[in-house]
Amino acid sequence: MARIRLDHIRHAYTPELARAGHYALREIDHTFDDGGAYALLGPSGCGKTTLLNIISGLLTPSEGHVRFDERDVTELSPELRNIAQVFQFPVVYDTMTVRENLAFPLKNRKVPKAEIDTRVADMLRRIGLDAKADRKAQGLTADEKQKISLGRGLVRPDVNAILFDEPLTVIDPHMKWQLRSQLKELHRQFKMTMVYVTHDQTEALTFADKVVVMYDGEVVQIGTPEELFERPRHTFVGYFIGSPGMNVLDCQVDGTDAIVGAARIAIPGGARQAAAGAKTELGIRPEFVRIVPRGQGLPVTIDRVEDVGSERIVRASLYGQKLVSVIAEGAGLPAEADAVLEPGALNLYADSWLVERRPS
Ligand code: ATP
Repeated sequence: MARIRLDHIRHAYTPELARAGHYALREIDHTFDDGGAYALLGPSGCGKTTLLNIISGLLTPSEGHVRFDERDVTELSPELRNIAQVFQFPVVYDTMTVRENLAFPLKNRKVPKAEIDTRVADMLRRIGLDAKADRKAQGLTADEKQKISLGRGLVRPDVNAILFDEPLTVIDPHMKWQLRSQLKELHRQFKMTMVYVTHDQTEALTFADKVVVMYDGEVVQIGTPEELFERPRHTFVGYFIGSPGMNVLDCQVDGTDAIVGAARIAIPGGARQAAAGAKTELGIRPEFVRIVPRGQGLPVTIDRVEDVGSERIVRASLYGQKLVSVIAEGAGLPAEADAVLEPGALNLYADSWLVERRPS
């Protein structure tokens, strides 16, 4: 497996688009560590597939270099990069048996027969298809076929990385969870570099050690699921990760306080660093907004309450701005309510980017 270095990558699909400044990838400078499990997460059109294709070699970037360990592979084809890929739709040979499908990439590489037999038998067990080894692939379910696609990548001894492009799209919802946990387990066993593209945050957060959040052709944050939840570096991350997403309130900054309507809210650290003239916003996760009786916090109007299993989502307004709170199912709701914003969970944003706190 390899460390993958994306060295100042930019990509425009045509020279005309480049001249007009329309880059599908505006600037990516990032290293995927050897053996890491990464998810590329972001909304449709943000550039995930473009980036994945640049890593695999299906696409050559307009600018910058791709390196596997120290080797510059920018101009190499996917075959020469030794990349395995799993796409949305399983790529299997229907007329071959499961065993033959798994043996195929090894035969192509002239691996000795005895080694092929051992590797394939081992892989059949790991992906849980040994009982169906001699069945033709055409009769199998979508998730079984996707396991074959995955097995074909893992069975090769020379793979630098495995890339997944929305691999669970055609899988039944109840099988998705199982396949995802199996994938995670296989990563634990093989320790291969994996990059997994998805627009589904649950998939990203359960699969990856590190999630790379993309927005409008840029990486806006790379972090563990906890980091993305607790300290979103960009308001988009706050909104995109979590359900419901982070509250983002327009505010003015005065000294170390944020002013929202008539409320003055102290921000622990950092407020003074907000650039003069920047659009400033206050972010707080709904989980850290408490609803309390009137007189004990900031005055809110409750617009709607939704029951969602073990929690209730309270949709309120604070000086005309939307404020969402998540409370426990049994928690009481006062008729006249105020809201308390947990100070430790407040984040200040200037022009959508997090204003780092001063060390306390
Ligand atoms: P999705 O989740 O919908 O697949 P994505 O995040 O993978 O989206 P990309 O497919 O990488 O996004 O697209 C990034 C941008 O590049 C989009 O604006 C898209 O319209 C544009 N784009 C993608 N492929 C081409 C192409 N072949 N020619 C021109 N523009 C393209």
